[in-house]
Amino acid sequence: MLSIRNLDVHYGGIHALRGISFDVPDGKIVTLIGANGAGKSTTLHAIMGLLDTVHGSVSYDGQETMAWTTKQRVENRLILVPEGRRIFPDLTVFENLKLGAYTRNDHDVIERDYQKVFSLFPRLQERCGQKAGTLSGGEQQMLAVGRALMSSPRMLLMDEPSLGLSPLLTAEIIRIITEINKTGVTVLLVEQNARAALEIADFAYVLETGEISRQGTGAELLADKSIIAAYLGD
Ligand code: ATP
Repeated sequence: MLSIRNLDVHYGGIHALRGISFDVPDGKIVTLIGANGAGKSTTLHAIMGLLDTVHGSVSYDGQETMAWTTKQRVENRLILVPEGRRIFPDLTVFENLKLGAYTRNDHDVIERDYQKVFSLFPRLQERCGQKAGTLSGGEQQMLAVGRALMSSPRMLLMDEPSLGLSPLLTAEIIRIITEINKTGVTVLLVEQNARAALEIADFAYVLETGEISRQGTGAELLADKSIIAAYLGD
């Protein structure tokens, strides 16, 4: 579904991505793991068209997207859940969700999608009229995912959805990602929490200073001693 070839990003003098290539097959969960600064967020931002100096090819559903605007990507249901829960703090929970659907005209389906989001995240329904900035960290993260779901994604790019969450909430968000995937949404997941990500990944890539150093199924990497030593903390 997504084919990345020779993706290369410079920030001024910093060579953040050094021509990486990888694939995200339709319907799968693929994860990118790696240390701080390895280039994980940069990869997602480059795919989403948010950066200036990007070279290479990003093909989505067989179409080259490098010349697309970010809006075109959203209209084609390629959706980013950004790191750091970039919700709108002064808007209510409901208004934030509504913004997720702003490019859509299929009003009947939008109504059904609210119900889907509320069944995944009952807490968001309870807090519908509350200012998003007053939600807890975990609730804000759920709102960021809920807002992305309101864009009716075919593919979700998720940037550290467990950042700052307790182990219990991390397990919950990881479970929800697998549920979303089961409804047919393809997922590219960036995570510091490598174990949780590898456990649900069909396939995984390790990024090291802007290059892919390893790849394999989630299970293969979880069983690999060098990965355990470097990324799994035991
Ligand atoms: P983390 O897990 O810490 O979020 P990451 O793997 O997502 O790390 P990136 O945020 O992609 O890493 O950063 C890759 C490299 O590019 C880092 O060295 C970072 O300092 C640099 N970088 C990222 N954004 C910018 C920017 N806007 N300007 C200059 N350098 C940047």
